[in-house]
Amino acid sequence: MKNCCSDFTPYPTDEKYFEVVKIEKVKNVCSSCEDFAKGQIDKKTPIAVLCCEGACLRGEVARQAANLVCFKLLPENTARICLGGAFTKNTGQRNLVRNASKVVALEGCFIDCSSRMMKGVLEGLELDVIRVDTLYDFDRNLFAINDLPEEKIKELAKVAANKILEKLH
Ligand code: SF4
Repeated sequence: MKNCCSDFTPYPTDEKYFEVVKIEKVKNVCSSCEDFAKGQIDKKTPIAVLCCEGACLRGEVARQAANLVCFKLLPENTARICLGGAFTKNTGQRNLVRNASKVVALEGCFIDCSSRMMKGVLEGLELDVIRVDTLYDFDRNLFAINDLPEEKIKELAKVAANKILEKLH
């Protein structure tokens, strides 16, 4: 018999479980971003890499790690997604996520912003979440970007990027 509690899935419009937002549409098109997205699709179903892009230390490490993975360590197989573009516009960046062979969300912390955002605009999207702040050692009481020197942040991003690479293989 079906266990109604463990199988519970919230109904998508239930505001107890979901925030409903209205995103203003925009006519402006960033042709550089669209061209970039098109070029990435030409890689033939790349792994789409979302990232928190956050303003704090954890977000910054995740952001730098995402850039290392996509532009240095695995550029042929990954597409670095513009989270803002993919979330707010149904154009090239969202298409990249939609058509990717796999979607990976590099989350700065357990708020899981990038994966929750994309699941909000692409219903049923399946993705792998990697909480980047679990991949490196640091003082967990620190929060802001300026709580660590830039060089140290770069070092942590490298450590995280190499571990992300292992998970992608
Ligand atoms: S979601 Fe988490 S990691 Fe990202 S900016 Fe906010 S607090 Fe930082």
